[in-house]
Amino acid sequence: MIIHADMDAFFASVEIREQPALRGKPVVVGGRAESRGVVAAASYVARQYGIRSAMPTATALKRCSGLIVLPGRMALYSEVSQQIQDIFARYTPLIEPLSLDEAFLDVSASTALFGSAPQIAHDIKQAVSDELQLVISMGVAPNKFVAKIASDLQKPDGFVVVEAADVQQFLDPLPVSRLWGVGKVTEKKLHAQQIHSIADLRRASESFIRQHLGQYGEQLRQLARGHDPRAVIAKRDAKSISRETTFAQDISDAEILRSVLSNLTEQVAWRMRRQNVRGRTVQLKLRFDDFHTITRALSLGAATHHTCDLWHTALQLLNKEMASGLPPIRLIGMGVSGFDTDQTHKQPDLFDTPHNDEINNTTTRSEAESIDKVTDDINHRFGNKLLSRARGLRRPHPTPARPKIVRE
Ligand SMILES: [Mg+2]
Repeated sequence: MIIHADMDAFFASVEIREQPALRGKPVVVGGRAESRGVVAAASYVARQYGIRSAMPTATALKRCSGLIVLPGRMALYSEVSQQIQDIFARYTPLIEPLSLDEAFLDVSASTALFGSAPQIAHDIKQAVSDELQLVISMGVAPNKFVAKIASDLQKPDGFVVVEAADVQQFLDPLPVSRLWGVGKVTEKKLHAQQIHSIADLRRASESFIRQHLGQYGEQLRQLARGHDPRAVIAKRDAKSISRETTFAQDISDAEILRSVLSNLTEQVAWRMRRQNVRGRTVQLKLRFDDFHTITRALSLGAATHHTCDLWHTALQLLNKEMASGLPPIRLIGMGVSGFDTDQTHKQPDLFDTPHNDEINNTTTRSEAESIDKVTDDINHRFGNKLLSRARGLRRPHPTPARPKIVRE
């Protein structure tokens, strides 16, 4: 089964989460009317005024004079997007993102471990709500095409499951414009021939379809019958994996920085193991209170995805920078690149990697790798925040339930 997961009014919802005073108000994220900007995302309250994405902001303001127009914060949205994808990744490595806020997930191989596809979709929806305070709509169906329609059908806060046996019954009454490839022009053409619903098209004769729809006709008819053979293609061409955190207040405390870096490293390492990639180059990113940003990198002797190797390298980079005295830090990030593309090379020489005997005083390498495995197993089952290393537990004070992200 395939899940199509799609955030509701994503950019606008993130803004409302960050600024609760905006709740219940008409909000859009978009360009300024004076600079001929357009709406990128509209809250559901704004949509009640007929405001839609891609509409000029000037038009939107005419429809709703009290409209709150916010500039976009892409760095924040991509950070949240990564957090959403991390939740997906607990259930399947087969994730095909379509944009920052929607993705297809193939969960066919995950059901033995996590329950049925609808159960998985439900758990993901719950996790996004509990952990990120955001709403995601889910469509569950035997293929991509039907799953995508399903996720859209009850938005916002949608949850629609279409079992294989019900696909035709589900599609038949829907307007033909729901079919991929049926735009305004084709729709008009079909309406002129009294084809309004998907059922109408499905029942049309082969010659009719060839005459009116040409080379795409057969494809549309397959879709109308609920056939869509396309597989979910996981994004495997990533050149690096990274995580970063922006602090609500600038941080100078070295212990807090190390602790946050440890958390980021665990998240990156976990994601690498999940995607079965190993990397050679560890990068540290620091942004200071004046927005000046530096990156520092260090390469390991062999590609790895073990938390201990990545952590020691990241820590080395941070310690070196801190030794020279740093201004207060606004953002810290870590990433790994230099992926080993040779998938047959699964077991790097353990004794070739640095820090082999200094993981810490009491932990051997094989123990450290077992920790990775146990952590991964538990986090897969219960969410990746449940188990983490104690050094990652120190938080900026006062401890926010969710780190508030400062406007950039
Ligand atoms: Mg969306």
